Amino acid sequence: MEFVISSIHSKKEINEKYDVVVLGGGIAGISASIYLKRYAINSLLISSEIGGLIKDAHRIENYPGFSSITGQELSSNFEKQLNYLGVEKLIDDVVEINFNENEEYKIELKTKNNKTIKSKYLIYALGSKRKRLSIPNEEKYYGKGLSYCFTCDGAFFKDKIVSVIGGGDAALTGALYLSDIAKKVFLIHRRKEFRAEDMWIKKAKEKSNIEFILEDEVKEIVGNDSVEKINLKSGKKVELNGIFIEIGNIPNTLLLKNTNVEFDDKGFVIVDSSQKTSNEYIYAAGDLTNASQHFEQLVTSASEGAICVHSIQKQLNKN
Ligand SMILES: Cc1cc2nc3c(=O)[nH]c(=O)nc-3n(C[C@H](O)[C@H](O)[C@H](O)COP(=O)(O)OP(=O)(O)OC[C@H]3O[C@@H](n4cnc5c(N)ncnc54)[C@H](O)[C@@H]3O)c2cc1C
Repeated sequence: MEFVISSIHSKKEINEKYDVVVLGGGIAGISASIYLKRYAINSLLISSEIGGLIKDAHRIENYPGFSSITGQELSSNFEKQLNYLGVEKLIDDVVEINFNENEEYKIELKTKNNKTIKSKYLIYALGSKRKRLSIPNEEKYYGKGLSYCFTCDGAFFKDKIVSVIGGGDAALTGALYLSDIAKKVFLIHRRKEFRAEDMWIKKAKEKSNIEFILEDEVKEIVGNDSVEKINLKSGKKVELNGIFIEIGNIPNTLLLKNTNVEFDDKGFVIVDSSQKTSNEYIYAAGDLTNASQHFEQLVTSASEGAICVHSIQKQLNKN
């Protein structure tokens, strides 16, 4: 079976068999694809879109080479680089992965648009999904004042009162971003200490319109057509217009269910120092692995993607 994909260089007939397929167009998969191209390994990048989670970031100021860049700009640079190098890519959703031990091309990927691609090795880099708070009315108010993406929805809250829930980098940078738009930002965190970088904590403390509410949690959301108030476990009530939930992510590993890949107790893919999973033909990179001490950053994800290729290249050379 053959079908067509596009790259900036040419319209090209896509082969259905590859030495390596990279699944996921976030920074981990992009980095892997760049290295595969440099090693001249027959490979394909499959992803729903290019850029991944970082597209949601307001500003990135810790990625070497860029003093300050928006998530959208960085994603667009990623895409330009893939096109410049002529990386073969297929924009599609993968819906099933099968592993056939007895075949030369052991990995089989099926896509939403009914394409079937086979590969000797897979680099699995599907990132993660936003965590829900799991409180009453969370689903009801989603899109009605409740959001999981401050960069996507922040602009709707000009001169309003909002809260950010969480204590990591996303929560702190979210509070900072929103403090430039909203009248007032409550940063609510269930612990006394933050997990975020000291730099973001310092900047948030310097903002006069950010109020910290620590060692407290949201009990329920109250409102009519949209969010109007939150009641906290301490008994405190906060009147507001918007809630931004930034409490972390769940690894996107469902598609590995037909493989023998193993996970840790939090559901992250277990990899060794070569980024190999418990299946010797499947490597994993980025936010969904247990590598890099769960740092879950751009540089660590990019590094894991590159290591996958370095390791697979050695295996391909052996055979
Ligand atoms: C608001 C915010 C701010 C951040 N700021 C920073 C920062 O300043 N600095 C920093 O270093 N890190 C930052 N991060 C973290 C950074 O975004 C992640 O570490 C990084 O994006 C992880 O990359 P990844 O490739 O593992 O996964 P992702 O970026 O999540 O990419 C996963 C890819 O898989 C694709 N995909 C998913 N399912 C399928 C499917 N079924 N079929 C095909 N494709 C699929 C997605 O479309 C996506 O392209 C931030 C994160 C957030 C949310």
